[in-house]
Amino acid sequence: KVDMRDMLDTLMVEAEGLSQGRHVIRMDPVTPLWLWGNAAELHSAFGNLVSNAVRYTPEGGTITLSWREEGDKLVFSVSDTGIGIPREHIPRLTERFYRVDRGRSRGNGGTGLGLAIVKHIVARHQARLDIVSEPEKGSTFSVVFGGEHRAEPDHDPRAEEAA
Ligand code: ATP
Ligand code: MG
Repeated sequence: KVDMRDMLDTLMVEAEGLSQGRHVIRMDPVTPLWLWGNAAELHSAFGNLVSNAVRYTPEGGTITLSWREEGDKLVFSVSDTGIGIPREHIPRLTERFYRVDRGRSRGNGGTGLGLAIVKHIVARHQARLDIVSEPEKGSTFSVVFGGEHRAEPDHDPRAEEAA
């Protein structure tokens, strides 16, 4: 079970560390929502999306983390105002070693494995990865969980004693 409030706080600190002040990093107000899932795996998946947003967004851009309910779904997303992705590449992004343009991202050498790992972890949580992107405008990567993944916080035994 994952406390998404803690998860988002950790991801914010990691994003600031990767950005080193080169971007504006924001978090939409988070409703405290707990999620059934593997915390280490989800941290790795969300962290990959955050590191991509930092890597593929030029200095001065904005990166926004969000965690929200959408109807009966639970959605984690990372938006950036970065270089974006041409439409024809989007279906292939989660293939292992697939990179859009080795030339343009030369020097910030990824291996093209991040999104393959994300896809795998998302599938293990019966979730869906949505990618919306426009070249030179930016990208939004969303992980959409079914409502059955919603969890309730543990009861605090001290609170029960006091009652
Ligand atoms: P790795 O994550 O293994 O270090 P990588 O970042 O190149 O390397 P992926 O995370 O799998 O690999 O991403 C695949 C490709 O998708 C990237 O090389 C890049 O071309 C494109 N991409 C991913 N995220 C973004 C983004 N937020 N904005 C623009 N392009 C992106
Ligand atoms: Mg990556």
